[in-house]
Amino acid sequence: MSLDSAIDRCIQCGFCLQACPTYRLFETEESSPRGRIARVKDVLAGEVAPTVQSLQTFSECLGCRACETACPSGVHYEEILLYGRAELRRLEPEPRLAVRTLLRLISRPSGIRRMKRLWARLGRAAIRFARALRPRSPELRLLAALPNPAPQAAPTQGDPDVTMHRGCLMDVFWEGTNARAVLLLRDSGLRADLMEESAGCCGALHAHQGDTQTAREQAKRLIGAFETSGAKVISSLAGGCGAHLKEYPSLFADDATWRARAERLSNAVRDVATLLRGQGVRPGDDGGRRVTYQDSCHLRNGLKVTAAPRELLAGPGYCEMASAGSCCGSAGVYNLLRPDVADELLRRKVEEVREMGAQEVVTANPGCELQWRMGAREARLPVTVRHLVDHLWEERRGAQ
Ligand code: SF4
Ligand code: SF4
Repeated sequence: MSLDSAIDRCIQCGFCLQACPTYRLFETEESSPRGRIARVKDVLAGEVAPTVQSLQTFSECLGCRACETACPSGVHYEEILLYGRAELRRLEPEPRLAVRTLLRLISRPSGIRRMKRLWARLGRAAIRFARALRPRSPELRLLAALPNPAPQAAPTQGDPDVTMHRGCLMDVFWEGTNARAVLLLRDSGLRADLMEESAGCCGALHAHQGDTQTAREQAKRLIGAFETSGAKVISSLAGGCGAHLKEYPSLFADDATWRARAERLSNAVRDVATLLRGQGVRPGDDGGRRVTYQDSCHLRNGLKVTAAPRELLAGPGYCEMASAGSCCGSAGVYNLLRPDVADELLRRKVEEVREMGAQEVVTANPGCELQWRMGAREARLPVTVRHLVDHLWEERRGAQ
């Protein structure tokens, strides 16, 4: 869907308002999806000048796409967000040094490899150091919440049905989880392999921070790697990456050749829970532990996957979190850029889980896992937080 048709489809009914976390928090039209769409419409019509101030609402937007799920008119809000963020970046380069550095590092496979080597050597010490500091800056708070490196080997099988996109931060900080996903898929009967490291990052973070040009370069590299793999399916353990892969064709609106290649990849995207359920994998024994699930916004609102992860967790101890479908504040690098909003969203959820008495929070996205680990740690909430794959892996180990 083009930007124009995304705008034209909005009938201003307001059904999206209560689904939007920033509207619920601030209760202003400007903080709502409808208000943001109207702002872009006015800018395009020349009625409002595009300035950092007039487009600031796109810094506040989480990009969670809950508005898309709620919208009866089928507005593809992602187009609006990408336009707003790209305009903002054109007017003002990303101000936060840590985010600029991170985006530069992950834009090349060599940068990701360097980060991986460094993390394998210094990860444990860095986490210990950050924890000892009781930090206030968002970067150090997140560093203190990272899981210790937990390596796992998944030797190449060759000729895969499924190629598992490694991701960027996923590959650095959750490398073992990627490998465990491949092993679980193989156990279920699928031929699965990790994608070549040279595929690099999918470009989701760049696109969502308004750097469309780098996002296109990343997409081209990844499309090439997917075609070389020979796999029929591409999967990712990060909901945000999976949803962005699905959106690849929209990056090439004016390039028919790349658009066709992007469409082939887009049609091949499946999330890991759906693949495992498709193979008949059933929930393991959770030992009666009270387990709950936090949706990944992009898995839920982008890929529309809600049932499969829950079906894999549906043991006797499973309890549904009322706000599971609402953003935890992670939202890519949002928790670095707007820790004030992200903290408030997380605080409400942490208290909800405390009241539920849950012992484990399972997520389907590394960013959500990290955000929850930070929230639980700082609020002294006694829960285990882990990715769905690591939960299933532990269940399987317990059953052996
Ligand atoms: S629900 Fe859809 S059509 Fe209605 S105001 Fe929101 S975006 Fe527009
Ligand atoms: S993406 Fe999320 S935060 Fe942004 S307008 Fe939609 S619902 Fe609100």
